[in-house]
Amino acid sequence: MNEKVATELKGSVRGDVILPDDGRYDEARKVYNAMIDKRPAVVVRCTGVADVIAAVKAARAAGLAVAIRGGGHSVPGFGTADDALVTDLGRMRGIRVDPATKTVRAEGGATWGDFNHATHAFGLATTGGIISTTGIAGLTLGGGIGYLTRGAGLSLDNLISADVVTADGSFVTANAKENQDLFWALRGGGGNFGVVTSFQYKLQPVKNIVGGPMFFEKEDAEKVMRTFDEYISRAPRELGAFFAWQIAPPLPFIPEDRHGDTLCVLVACWTGPPSEAEEALAPLRGAADLVAAHVGPMPYPALNGAFDGLV
Ligand SMILES: Cc1cc2nc3c(=O)[nH]c(=O)nc-3n(C[C@H](O)[C@H](O)[C@H](O)COP(=O)(O)OP(=O)(O)OC[C@H]3O[C@@H](n4cnc5c(N)ncnc54)[C@H](O)[C@@H]3O)c2cc1C
Repeated sequence: MNEKVATELKGSVRGDVILPDDGRYDEARKVYNAMIDKRPAVVVRCTGVADVIAAVKAARAAGLAVAIRGGGHSVPGFGTADDALVTDLGRMRGIRVDPATKTVRAEGGATWGDFNHATHAFGLATTGGIISTTGIAGLTLGGGIGYLTRGAGLSLDNLISADVVTADGSFVTANAKENQDLFWALRGGGGNFGVVTSFQYKLQPVKNIVGGPMFFEKEDAEKVMRTFDEYISRAPRELGAFFAWQIAPPLPFIPEDRHGDTLCVLVACWTGPPSEAEEALAPLRGAADLVAAHVGPMPYPALNGAFDGLV
């Protein structure tokens, strides 16, 4: 980026403009996947819509590609690029819940942890990821699968409206009535159609759930997967669950002599009446002999953050 554009950009945003000679550059160019080692021309840590507009316009003026970073969890590292201007939305995490309409407006840099914390206070939630540090933006724009999918659909099914800064620096709203083509494209089109500065979602009544992980021997994986596959297609919609391989972490509910062993795990989330949880979870629990389990009532955000330290 030439000096003139960089100086103008610094003068027009409230957030940080970080160039390669800045001491903060190496930290600013990092994304979640540590194998990604891109060197953008500049990283703009935006503080609001005005900064996003200024950043996109500066990229146009400088002839730079724009990379958009929400939560930074893109595995191939699409939140950054060599020689690009990165619009980093990590400081735009404001969330406003409207309990009367059961909707929420969340800024484009929020994570599911931010989101669930805010909506949980009202006993509400929507489909989000299974890890709380993932960004709502990339996950929603790519579809969004999580514990609540079977009952509430994908994250993008719950999207009502999005505020977007498009490639020419214009600010538009896309929903079922305005800019319908853009709204259609956003729902599955990833970060290719503009910078989404905020998302509006509908919410479902979800507060405390019954759930958690059930660990089985890896030798029982086939049995566990077959049971899961057969049951999940007919289980009540209030049940969300997934299968995974997991190296047993050093947690108190796992026998100490099994720490570090490769096991398989079913993680379940029951959002229906607590009195029906045992029956709903029984087929999963009985898939094979349990090595360990930690299933019980807990706030929904607690399950959402339970595995953050493992990934
Ligand atoms: C640990 C981990 C757990 C995961 N769990 C789940 C899960 O449970 N369910 C699931 O469905 N997926 C899951 N994913 C996949 C995840 O949804 C995608 O990687 C998603 O793209 C990450 O979004 P992000 O905002 O965190 O990432 P980023 O790297 O910031 O962005 C991902 C993509 O979205 C674009 N983008 C980001 N913010 C915006 C914005 N505001 N406006 C426009 N475009 C934007 C970026 O340019 C990039 O192309 C997981 C990924 C990881 C690493």
